Amino acid sequence: MLDIEKIEKEYIYEKEDLGACYKGNYTTFRVWSPVATRVDLKLYAEGKGDCLLETIPMMLDIKGTWYTKVDQDLEGKYYTYEITVQEETYEVVDVYAKAVGVNGKRGMIVDFSKTNPEGWEQDQGPVLKHYTDAILYELHVRDASMDSTSGIVEKGLWNGLAEENTKSPDGLSTGLAHIEELGVTHVHLLPQHDYGSVDEAHLEQNVFNWGYDPMNYNCLEGSYSSNPFDGAVRIKEMKHLIQTFHKHGLGVVFDVVYNHTYQSENSIFEQTVPGYYYRMKADGSFSNGSGCGNETASEHKMMGKYICDSVCFFAKEYHVDGFRFDLMAIHDIETMNRLAKQLKEINPNIIIYGEGWAAEEPLLEETRLAKKKNARKMPHIAMFSDNIRDAVKGHVFEVEAKGFVNGAADMEEEIKFAVVGATYHSQAQEGKEVSWAGTAGQCINYVSAHDDLTLWDKLALTNPDADEETRKAMNKLAAAIVYTSQGVPFMQAGEEMLRTKPGEEVAGKFTKNSYNKPDAINSLKWERKKTYADVVAYYQGLIAFRKAHKGLRMAEPGQIERHLQFLDLPRNVVGYTIQCADLEEKTKEILIIYNANNNAVTIPMPEGDWEVYIDGKQAGVQALRRVKGKQVSVDAISCIALLC
Ligand code: CA
Repeated sequence: MLDIEKIEKEYIYEKEDLGACYKGNYTTFRVWSPVATRVDLKLYAEGKGDCLLETIPMMLDIKGTWYTKVDQDLEGKYYTYEITVQEETYEVVDVYAKAVGVNGKRGMIVDFSKTNPEGWEQDQGPVLKHYTDAILYELHVRDASMDSTSGIVEKGLWNGLAEENTKSPDGLSTGLAHIEELGVTHVHLLPQHDYGSVDEAHLEQNVFNWGYDPMNYNCLEGSYSSNPFDGAVRIKEMKHLIQTFHKHGLGVVFDVVYNHTYQSENSIFEQTVPGYYYRMKADGSFSNGSGCGNETASEHKMMGKYICDSVCFFAKEYHVDGFRFDLMAIHDIETMNRLAKQLKEINPNIIIYGEGWAAEEPLLEETRLAKKKNARKMPHIAMFSDNIRDAVKGHVFEVEAKGFVNGAADMEEEIKFAVVGATYHSQAQEGKEVSWAGTAGQCINYVSAHDDLTLWDKLALTNPDADEETRKAMNKLAAAIVYTSQGVPFMQAGEEMLRTKPGEEVAGKFTKNSYNKPDAINSLKWERKKTYADVVAYYQGLIAFRKAHKGLRMAEPGQIERHLQFLDLPRNVVGYTIQCADLEEKTKEILIIYNANNNAVTIPMPEGDWEVYIDGKQAGVQALRRVKGKQVSVDAISCIALLC
């Protein structure tokens, strides 16, 4: 077994020059492997094939690093390290490689200054004063364009997602134009780092994968680029995509998967420093908190540094506006706080959030894990609220389980807990869960994501006898709860057009785990935008309403407790007022009611001159009608929002 303690004490290399540092007429290479007995640098003409140019022995330098300097202009050349450890010799890609050739087999030496599009120095993502101002839209690059109705030319590629003013055959905007029209603030892209499951050399096979099988963390996936064989092309195309999104006022969030790697024994991390980058059990086997065969060890200093360096590289070099950490509870709190601090120094507008859970129990004390119950120890990191997700529409793993909107009775306390963004509120603590968010900005509210059933499919399974209009009402109420609750709203792309993923997997009708399913199942079908135009407009209206009201986006600790008050209402109805006087609002007061009953309810109105902005049919920033009299009727399965 590796002596981790000794390494942590004596071999921590803190400088920034790990990997290949291109300096024009020379390039330096440095790789950390305190256990290696020999390291050679191998230079290649291309990213694959038999084209070795030179093998250069590297020297053991300080803190267990191996170093060499090559006095040639190596731009565009590829490289690997041949590392001998424990009497085995492996040829590996540099874990610090910033570019790779096809299928990530060799690192590439790139002059990054030549990869910048015109105007890159001026490029800037959106300003994000508080996390609660963000509205997140989760998208797979291929899903936007692969269907024939997308009107996008470069299907499946970043270039396609960057196409402007694209239209469906119905003449409605698609892709980027649609996202902008919807009004969200950030597009969260499923993994963009190089992953293993798609053969980049054969893109014509149109293989789809979510990408949760990371290979080279600091490199981009080749299958979204127009030429995966030249490692520089993907860098340029990603920058073009991000610059284009920024021009349209949209931020770009990367979904990052540092918690495990695609391979275990054969991964480049394990072959570079065996036993260091992963949590190993006493018997020498890999601990498996990810459920994917291994879990990384962020609490080991060089792994923690690696994760920090990697996200900082994306923030600096690519102007990425946020990071979503997959199975974040595998990582340790200290590393997460350190990377948040470093990222905020690069760009204070960056948003950081993650899944506050793991797949299986990680091999680290619970008090150190970046999990939901420890959220208050990580004030700059937000976490997905499985509370709102399951309360609104029913438990995620129980296909037929219902929630508040689709027929489960007595969910009022769970909904109140969702409304206050899982923060402390004296009227909302009678539910089953203790508040875990220090501020609402730490709580990501959602009812759909790439995992599991789409919201629309879930409703079809929980309420098979309900007609389409009723299920639309349920869907709208679910969305209204997400967009009016305190916290950070998040949605799966296409939820606004009642996305469905057909298939055999669930009840012979739908697909839950579509990670490797064909585009036909996964892609957005843009004709649904016309079919369900009323629902799309409703989402647009909810988003506009949210953006118009700071009262829905309270960010400071204690604010929600002071301003938001729940009303005493009938069964299966939740309602509350928000006093907006000192929230930089023109509005004096907001009143929101969710009625989950199958019948309309009449609610007495507080004093004031009230106008309706959201009801079961419409939502937006224009008043729909004035309330006459001292009470208001709330339709069956609907939300009503009023201002005075
Ligand atoms: Ca790949």
